[in-house]
Amino acid sequence: MFVSFIRPNNLSQKMMRVIFSIYLGVTCLITSLQFLSEYLKTQDSILNELKQLEETVRGPMSTSLWQYNQSQLDVLIAGLVKMPIIEGVDVSDMHANMIISKRSYTSETIPLSIFDTKSELNWLLNGQTIFLGTLVLYSSSEVILDRVLFGFALIATTAIIKLSVLFWLFIWAFDRYLAKPLQALMLQVNEVELSQDMSKRITLSNIENNELSQLQTHMNKMLTAMQRDRQRLLDDEQAKRIWLEDAVAKRTEELQTLNEKLKDLATRDSLTGILNRGSFFETAQHLLVLAQRQKSPASFVLMDLDHFKIVNDTYGHFVGDKVLIHFTHTIGTFLRKSDLFGRLGGEEFALFLPDTGIDEAFLLADKIRKTIGDSMLQVDGKTITYTVSLGLESSMAQYDSINELFKRADMKLYGAKDKGRDRVEK
Ligand code: GH3
Ligand code: MG
Ligand code: MG
Repeated sequence: MFVSFIRPNNLSQKMMRVIFSIYLGVTCLITSLQFLSEYLKTQDSILNELKQLEETVRGPMSTSLWQYNQSQLDVLIAGLVKMPIIEGVDVSDMHANMIISKRSYTSETIPLSIFDTKSELNWLLNGQTIFLGTLVLYSSSEVILDRVLFGFALIATTAIIKLSVLFWLFIWAFDRYLAKPLQALMLQVNEVELSQDMSKRITLSNIENNELSQLQTHMNKMLTAMQRDRQRLLDDEQAKRIWLEDAVAKRTEELQTLNEKLKDLATRDSLTGILNRGSFFETAQHLLVLAQRQKSPASFVLMDLDHFKIVNDTYGHFVGDKVLIHFTHTIGTFLRKSDLFGRLGGEEFALFLPDTGIDEAFLLADKIRKTIGDSMLQVDGKTITYTVSLGLESSMAQYDSINELFKRADMKLYGAKDKGRDRVEK
């Protein structure tokens, strides 16, 4: 407490120090004035006493002087000097010659200040006053101090007691009404700052309706406003995030759809919707490798529409397209899920049949040929018929690539064409 009083580190301690210092200064000044007035009062009373003494000894002294009774004069003077309030006595004759001069102090113990009373010594003869000499009585500051010592001690003690009591009362009052509430306020503000928790509120105990309680109310209002603003910001942020997540999800979905479309465009034939040449060969190659590893048979069927040029030339390109689509759909009804169907170009198509031997493949190819040959396609009120030739090849150990298989099937197809079309060659 004393250390903080000497070196204050907060507002309330500083205020306490200032107020206490002012109080100490004023007390010292008042006490000094009390000392001074006590001193002067005592000096006055000593002077009065000296005067009364003079009144008392003037008669006997005048008698001694008139009668030239030196011994009586000495006794009187010795008696006076012994008195505690008298520091010295001077007696001089009518011509101002010093007759007697006595001091109670030595040259080493000269008092700080000396004061005196002077009176004339006279003799009354036949109604006439005869001037005999002068009597001077001395007293000093030491005599005054001796008298006032107790009074001084009392004043000093009272001042010290008042100061100590007030010091502790100041400390108690400042501590209770200012230092502690301020400290609690600072602690709670620090807590809010550290935790960044705006839901916290400042609650000071033992405060009445004063500036501190108003400060508490204002700070709590500020915290409420800050909490509301922060919540609003969080809500805004949340809404933005949700919007962004939605937008990203939507965009991702769009991109996925677009990707699938692109993939479709890259892998599918636009007219018939089945695999194009590139993706057919790529997938067929994988299936062939798989079949070889599993040592299972696989067949390759190459199909080419017969005299398709004539169909185009007779009915037009649009009808030719319809025939191509019809062919694709018809083939689709014969296939298993594991079978691969692709358009190699123009009116040339291929099938890759995993887990299918040459005989089984032949049966399927012939069924296809027959179904196509029997089908009658209606376009714009016209009935169109067409046929297909098929070349068939089954994978054997030496055919380790789909291209080789394709070349062999192509040769078979060529054979089918050569032998009159609408037939299967294996
Ligand atoms: P062959 O029996 O020997 O196979 O005779 P072909 O007329 O079918 O064979 P050719 O190769 O001479 O003619 C194929 C025709 O297929 C030529 C072309 O106009 C037609 N063609 C190719 N692609 C398309 C297509 O996408 N749509 C249509 N409508 N016709 C196509
Ligand atoms: Mg053809
Ligand atoms: Mg052709």
